[in-house]
Amino acid sequence: MIEGRCPKCGARYFGWALRFPRNQSCPNCGAALKIYENGKLASEGYSPFTAEKYSLNLPSNVNKQKTNARNGVKNKRHRS
Ligand SMILES: [Zn+2]
Repeated sequence: MIEGRCPKCGARYFGWALRFPRNQSCPNCGAALKIYENGKLASEGYSPFTAEKYSLNLPSNVNKQKTNARNGVKNKRHRS
């Protein structure tokens, strides 16, 4: 039994379609649903708004910070 609950407006949805990310956002307010399976929280739902931010910003920022930090450390060690 799969149940999706909206943390914002409290709407509840049921059914296997909740397994798919495109069905895991609330049609009323667009918030990501919390997906419960057999009464337990199975996963945080998918919202088009939050998902876009994560996929676009996180990887590029993390990669830049990592390479910058590594280069800085290497240069400092070489000089001293
Ligand atoms: Zn909602």
